[in-house]
Parts: sequence; structure tokens; C-alpha cells
Amino acid sequence: MRDGGLIRDGIDPQLDQARALERDAGAWLIDYQTKLMEEHDLPSMKVGYNKVFGYYIELPAAQAARAPDIFTRKQTLKNAERYITPELKDFEDKVLGASGQAIDRERILFDKLCQQARSVLDELGSYAHTVGQLDVLCGFGDKAHHRGWVRPTITTDSAQENHLENSLEIIQGRHPVLDEMLEQRFVPNDCTLGTKDSPPHLALLTGPNMAGKSTYIRQCALLVVLAQAGSFVPAQSMTLAVTDRIFTRVGADDALHRGLSTFMVEMTETANILNNATASSLIILDEIGRGTSTLDGLSLAWAITEHLAQAHGSGPRTLFATHYHEITELEEHLENRVKNLNVAVKEWTSEDGVQEIAFLHSIRPGCADQSYGVHVARLAGVPTSVTTRAAEVLESLSVQQGDRIDAKSIASTNTKAVAKANKDSAGQMGLFTEFVNHPVVNELREVKLDDMTPMQAFDTLRTLQDRASTDS
Ligand code: ADP
Repeated sequence: MRDGGLIRDGIDPQLDQARALERDAGAWLIDYQTKLMEEHDLPSMKVGYNKVFGYYIELPAAQAARAPDIFTRKQTLKNAERYITPELKDFEDKVLGASGQAIDRERILFDKLCQQARSVLDELGSYAHTVGQLDVLCGFGDKAHHRGWVRPTITTDSAQENHLENSLEIIQGRHPVLDEMLEQRFVPNDCTLGTKDSPPHLALLTGPNMAGKSTYIRQCALLVVLAQAGSFVPAQSMTLAVTDRIFTRVGADDALHRGLSTFMVEMTETANILNNATASSLIILDEIGRGTSTLDGLSLAWAITEHLAQAHGSGPRTLFATHYHEITELEEHLENRVKNLNVAVKEWTSEDGVQEIAFLHSIRPGCADQSYGVHVARLAGVPTSVTTRAAEVLESLSVQQGDRIDAKSIASTNTKAVAKANKDSAGQMGLFTEFVNHPVVNELREVKLDDMTPMQAFDTLRTLQDRASTDS
């Protein structure tokens, strides 16, 4: 409103008139400049305008002596002098007045328009609603037509040939946005939860950063939103049981301004999911337990997975992208309830002996065997000295602790073992202690040496040593 330009020409004669004055100003100035140049023989003279000083005539400093009497000095610059003439001043008043008038006029017209709009607010609202709906439906139609989207099938009962209750099956699904951006380079993927061929309703997705985990889980949720909003979907086919809600825990959008730490936000969101998801919900989890120590995080992720896999009968449909490879052991322990997926990575060794990786973005059954964090850091440009050192540290950690947590023992002793191990290493955990102790270590602590004969102590020691070497 301050600069005007809100209302177009031809709407109001008074506004048009004020604007014409402003517009004609340019032509008048050119004529005036030509006239002065000729009359006073000043070929380097210019007429200009700036917001602070208004209109002026400018002469190079060298020609200032030739300024005629009608020029009154207005401003001195380094290489030039600026003047005003009575005629130019008159013109300025008229033009600036006109632009002020145009803006005032516009404000009056705008206020009038607001009054008018207020009197037909309801009609405007319903018009906007209808146009909004049309817009969405046209958008759906346009995408379906131009991007080869297909009609999803919504199953209403579990009697469907290959579908269990609350199933979701997407064949060759594509992310609606990335598919358009990357075109042929986008890799479509399947998602099957709760079918006769693939009964689990919970999939654990592992794979390095940048592999495409977030894209995949978001894509599945987006396709469900599209399908239930009445749109066709970017896939070869899609069959789904109606979803009551989609729960998401994605991104590290902390709420420090609300006094909540990132981890607190993460746990609040998780609590909401665990307390409210039903058998027909869809849950996408993009990392859980990253905001705390490795051990804490792993314990939580583990317990949350166990809970979701067993909640409400077959469990809500859940896609969980995680870096905690250890949890993938649950596929074995919670058979038909949890399945593992990973994102394919191509590995090779370059001519100078460096291990290279490429992300294939294709989701396949099974768990990832490595995180490739150090490789990804190198791809991102972290200095070689740091990534080389990190690789060394990683190797030494793996040798010291065995780089896999003993998941079988956690599963068999239930999660209390994790909590206890965590308590044992309470306080600020050091880099080299953020791993679950080998169970033998805990047993060793419990041994009551004072109650044993030397032979019993020796036997116990031998047993523990045997277990330590066979379990690792
Ligand atoms: P992650 O969550 O595993 O770290 P993202 O989902 O953020 O990885 O994906 C990283 C990048 O990989 C994306 O920005 C995208 O450019 C690319 N990408 C992801 N999925 C695909 C896919 N299916 N096909 C092609 N490129 C993909």
C-alpha cells in the first residue's frame, strides 16, 4: 500500500489521471533536458531524480562555470554539481503531488473494496472453498494423466486374496516430488506390510546416510495420503486398508524456544505415537534415540520396536528407519511381526586403494551390514585427515568391543539387561564405553570369590573364558 500499484489502470478515472501525470513526467523531462542543452550549449548536462533530493540538473564539475543564472545550486558531488530551476521545481511539485494523490486514491479504493468484500464474506468463503476443491481435483487429474499415476485399491476387509488385516502394498512406488525432479534417475520401490507373502506389519529399514531411507518412508506415507484423499498414486499398483491416522517422527526439528531439548521433542512425539496409534494406523519413524547416548538410544529403539510389533494384534503398519543395526536381530525373535529392509549400496576399491561406495536407492530384504558413516563424511568433504583417523578409531573400537552388540542375549534376557548395563556405566559415558558389556563381564562381577574354593574359582574362570571366546 505504501508504494501503490495495487489497483490496475482503467478502474478509476481519478486514479488514472494522477498516474498519467506521473507517467508523462518521463517524456516531459527528456524534452526539458534537450531544450536546456540546446539553449545553453551544455552537451554533458543531464536531468535526473533521486528520492532524497528530488529532481535536479547535473553538470560535470569542469563545466560548472558555464551554468546559466537560472540554475540554482542544490548539491555538490565529487565530480559534478547539481542544480534546480524554477521550472523544474514547479514540475517536481506537480509530479510528486500526483504520485501522492495516486497513492491516496488507491487507499480509498482499497478501503472501499474491503467494505464490499466484508458484506459478501460468506459467499466469498464458499467460492474460495469451491475453487480450492476444483484446484486440488484438477491437480490430481493433471498428475494422474501426465505422470502415469494409477488408481489405488482400497480394501475394506481382510478377505482380499493376498492381504491380511490392515495391509499396505505398494508396487514400484515413486516419491511424487523426487520422481518429477529426477525423472529417469528415480528408483521406484515396493512396500509390503501385512500381506500373506509378507505378514509383518513392521519393517526396520537400515542403510547408510544418503541411501534414501527417509525418502522411502516419506514416500510410502505420502502415497497413503494421496490415495485416501481420492487421488491416483505414483506407483505401478497400490492396495491399502483404510488408515485412521498417519503418525510421523521425522526430522530433528527441536523446540528449544519452547524449552524442550531435541531429545525431549523426539520422546514426546514417540510417546504420542505409542499412546495413540491403533491397529489401522500408519507410523513412520525416521530414527529414534539419536539424541542420547548410543546405549540409551539403542535400548529405547529396541523397546519401541518390540512394543509396536506386538501392539493391537498384528501391530500398526510401521516403517522404521534406523542406524541401530542391532535391532534387526528382532526379525528372528519376532518372526512374522518384524522384517528387515535395507538400501542397496555398491562398494568397490578405487585404483588408489580407497574404498568407494555408490547409493543404488533400491530397497531390498535383509539388514545393512555397515553404516558407511566415514565414507559418507568423506563424500561430504570432511578433511581426509579426519576421516582417516575416524576409520582408525572405528577399527580400534571394533577390535576392543566387537562391533556388534550381543543382540541375542538382549532378546533373551529382555530389555532389563539393557537398562542394567546402562546403569552400570552411569554418568558421562566415554567414547569407548558406549557399548553393551559382554554378558560375561557382568557375570564376572557377580562371582562371589570368597565363597569358592580355589578349584571352583578356577573352573568358573575357565567357563567364562570359554564363553567369552566362543560368543564374540
Ligand atoms: P537417508 O535418509 O538414507 O539419509 P535420503 O532419503 O535423505 O537418505 O536420500 C538422500 C538423497 O538420495 C535424496 O535427496 C535423493 O536425491 C536421493 N534419493 C533418495 N531416494 C531415491 C530414489 N529412490 N531414487 C533416486 N534417488 C533417490
